[in-house]
Amino acid sequence: MIKCNDHRPNDKCGVVGVTSTESCSMYIYFALRALQHRGQESAGIVTYDNVIHYKRGMGLVHEIFDEALIKNLRGTCGIGHVRYSTQGSSSLDNAQPVVASSSLADISLGHNGEIVNAAHLREKYQKAGWAFFTDSDSEIIIRMLVNEIKLCNGDVVNALKKLAKNLVGSYSITIQVGSNIYAIRDPMGIKPLCIGKLPTGFIVASESVALDSIGAAFIRDVEPGEIIELTTANLRSDRLVEERGQVAHCMFEFVYFARPDSVLDGRVVYDVRKNIGRIIAKESPVEADYVVPIPDSGMSVALGYSEESDIPFAEGLMKNRYIGRTFIMPVHHMRELNVSLKMNPLKTLVKDKRVILVDDSIVRGTTIRRIVQSVRQAGAKEVHVRIGSPPIISPCYLGIDMKTRDQFVAKPQEDQEKPYERVAKIITADSLAHISIDGLVEAIGLPKDSLCLGCLTEEYPVPIENEKMRSESC
Ligand code: SF4
Repeated sequence: MIKCNDHRPNDKCGVVGVTSTESCSMYIYFALRALQHRGQESAGIVTYDNVIHYKRGMGLVHEIFDEALIKNLRGTCGIGHVRYSTQGSSSLDNAQPVVASSSLADISLGHNGEIVNAAHLREKYQKAGWAFFTDSDSEIIIRMLVNEIKLCNGDVVNALKKLAKNLVGSYSITIQVGSNIYAIRDPMGIKPLCIGKLPTGFIVASESVALDSIGAAFIRDVEPGEIIELTTANLRSDRLVEERGQVAHCMFEFVYFARPDSVLDGRVVYDVRKNIGRIIAKESPVEADYVVPIPDSGMSVALGYSEESDIPFAEGLMKNRYIGRTFIMPVHHMRELNVSLKMNPLKTLVKDKRVILVDDSIVRGTTIRRIVQSVRQAGAKEVHVRIGSPPIISPCYLGIDMKTRDQFVAKPQEDQEKPYERVAKIITADSLAHISIDGLVEAIGLPKDSLCLGCLTEEYPVPIENEKMRSESC
């Protein structure tokens, strides 16, 4: 299957946890629908009313759940998850939340992120006689948590502190233990997580749009390294690790993954993307007749570029929002058509015009190349490309599906004289420019040393075998 976003990286997952004096399942369902952009492979909801009720399935949230199913998920607390696999294969076995029973409690857990030392932990516990049933890192986390809760005589907060000592990587996790909901965010705050107030309880979720979707009031972001414990009446905070160290929010959440109407770590994503557009317009101006976004990801960046450059914004590419999933096209001609099925240039607009195409990122370059060609075939005189992230040159080990250096069209070459010109030729554009790293940092508006820029700089915030650490050069 060609994934819908085959030209750009895929996240990751979305997590939700709800406590409510009334049934919580409908809240979780709508919150997951608001987070659907974070994962479309599988989804699941677990609720608790003295026993665990759960449903997981492959596909989109609305394809898995109907009203009757949601009503059957009884209980006043629960968690939900949407998944795109970064570790572990795409199968129902790996769908989340993952569930475990122990003599002390029924536990379920939903994870967004990636545990860098998962293979080491798996090997260690397998040697100790543990059997694992899936290949996902989330199963390792829940098994370790169950073990720690036993060792801590049922003290979940202490168990979470001990668990965190052994996890390296990115994790925003919601956990149901009996009738309590816990949420933890890794000490560097790599993945987002926020808290909201419902009239009947509380919600924690990956993005604030999930809160908006169910009428919850935003309280604040979960701090890096924080433990949140929710009951229907109270919210309690503790620390996974006492010391607050360096943080490393994933820059890609701002550039592409999060919804533009979300607020992440104090920054409105839409504003960040417009800033990005304004800054590229200043850094890499070019004369043209129209600024055309590649929908939907290039929309806010293109608006910013247009405002700064005074070049009119125009919807010159129309996206078919109903194409859904596509199959591997059997013949080359059909594969080429695949882009046109999803994205079609407005011929009357682009004919004989100089067009600036704007998108968020380039990974392989294959899709942008086809889009450039289709705009040219529609009669455009010149096609320039402006990209809202600096070139991606290095893999992500922290929760994003970009695993090998070879896949990046911008991977450093021996002759690095004019890297943009080389890639511009590959994608058949008249010119290509990315925002600079400093420009991106300015657009996000957070200090450079509070961001993860690993896939742009090859310097990561946590130790990764054969890679440099950020602290080595900061
Ligand atoms: S390496 Fe890139 S994509 Fe991965 S967490 Fe860091 S900034 Fe985000």
